[in-house]
Amino acid sequence: MQNKWGIKKIAETLGFKLKKQGNMYDCKETLRHVMMALDGELTQAEEKAFLVHINQCSPCLEKYEIEKSFKKFLTEKLCRHHVPPQLIEQIKSRISGIAGS
Ligand SMILES: [Zn+2]
Repeated sequence: MQNKWGIKKIAETLGFKLKKQGNMYDCKETLRHVMMALDGELTQAEEKAFLVHINQCSPCLEKYEIEKSFKKFLTEKLCRHHVPPQLIEQIKSRISGIAGS
């Protein structure tokens, strides 16, 4: 019997299992992981499970895309407005002042 298990059969079974486990739990977990995924804080295994889920679940994919563009927007805005070149120079000279003494 076991010899008849091809990749297709295994994939089908895994897909079936994912659905049978209940989307509620998966979605909850996935949404919990969205921010972590964006911050690169997921382990490889978690990231893989996360990506598998958002590829199958459009509400979660949507949430991820929204958070991703929101984060990108914030990052770009913060970079542009909050670090003027003078401040960077000031910090640099302070650091080298500390390092030199
Ligand atoms: Zn989901």
